[in-house]
Amino acid sequence: MDRNLTKILAAKPVVDSVIEQLKSEVNAWVKRGVVPSLKVLLVGNHPPSLIYTKNKKKFIESLGAKCEIIHLDETISKVEFLKIANEISKDSDTHGCFAQLPLPKHLNDVDVANLFPANKDVDGFHPENIRAMVVGGVIAERALMPCTPKGIITLLKHYKFDLSGKNVVVIGRSMIVGKPMAMMLSNANASVSICHSKTKDISFFTKKADLIVVAVGKKDFLTTKHLGDNKPWIIDVGQNVINDSLFGDVTEDCIDHCEALTPVPGGVGPMTICSLGQNLLAAVQLQLGDIS
Ligand code: NAP
Repeated sequence: MDRNLTKILAAKPVVDSVIEQLKSEVNAWVKRGVVPSLKVLLVGNHPPSLIYTKNKKKFIESLGAKCEIIHLDETISKVEFLKIANEISKDSDTHGCFAQLPLPKHLNDVDVANLFPANKDVDGFHPENIRAMVVGGVIAERALMPCTPKGIITLLKHYKFDLSGKNVVVIGRSMIVGKPMAMMLSNANASVSICHSKTKDISFFTKKADLIVVAVGKKDFLTTKHLGDNKPWIIDVGQNVINDSLFGDVTEDCIDHCEALTPVPGGVGPMTICSLGQNLLAAVQLQLGDIS
């Protein structure tokens, strides 16, 4: 197969096209005296979380919106943490909020999905937003969807992958990626199979797939052995840091056996942050009404 024919599904052109729209929306709100504002609860010093929150803040500020990272001590009590979350929830000048995960172990029983009201829940974890995702259609379009799967849908639309009637395999079933991804792909009329650690023969599914979304979190998880002759599109969600380098879940040689592939870095990661910006503007609209 000719490697040059493989399409690299880079996030940059997608983000570049979305960013202009988001900037003009922020500008329109600012002219009305409202600065879209995001607050992030960050607990402790988990190294990837420090990087992720910094990148999110940089992106939100590049739109002309506000982003404050509330950096809390690792040892903060559950009572104090919930008090701060409650204050943010009630603050009418804060339009979007989320807690950067993972939280330290002593906060593991915090009900993250209900930490903030549904119309400020830019992570798309709130039960009302999950329900909207399950219902689909216009109800889902009006709600806040989880950032990573939302970003993948945006990327596929940009590169004109028509999901209707396609065989799609999602590997991974977490609440953050796999499960919402499968639901959103189904809403877009794809036929979706979900694989996980108990799936007996993942190749049985992937060899027939038109699109494979891999969200496992293991370098070199998806190999050419999983691929047939049908040259699928592959979305590599994995972010595996090894010796300070970032790797996805897909082996390098898969590029010769697929029609299109997201790079790592430069693929799903930036799309996730882009979705956060879209969700913040959608949250402003949910709280204050239509800009027009
Ligand atoms: P997770 O909660 O650990 O879930 C991993 C999933 O992979 C689970 O459903 C697990 O199955 C499945 N799995 C593990 N080993 C497997 C195996 N041998 N065969 C088949 N399935 C297997 O991880 P996550 O939060 O979904 O994240 C997955 C990856 O995506 C990570 O690398 C993460 O860093 C990355 N990520 C990237 C972004 C981004 O913006 N690019 C955003 C979120 C996450 P079981 O359910 O059976 O245990």
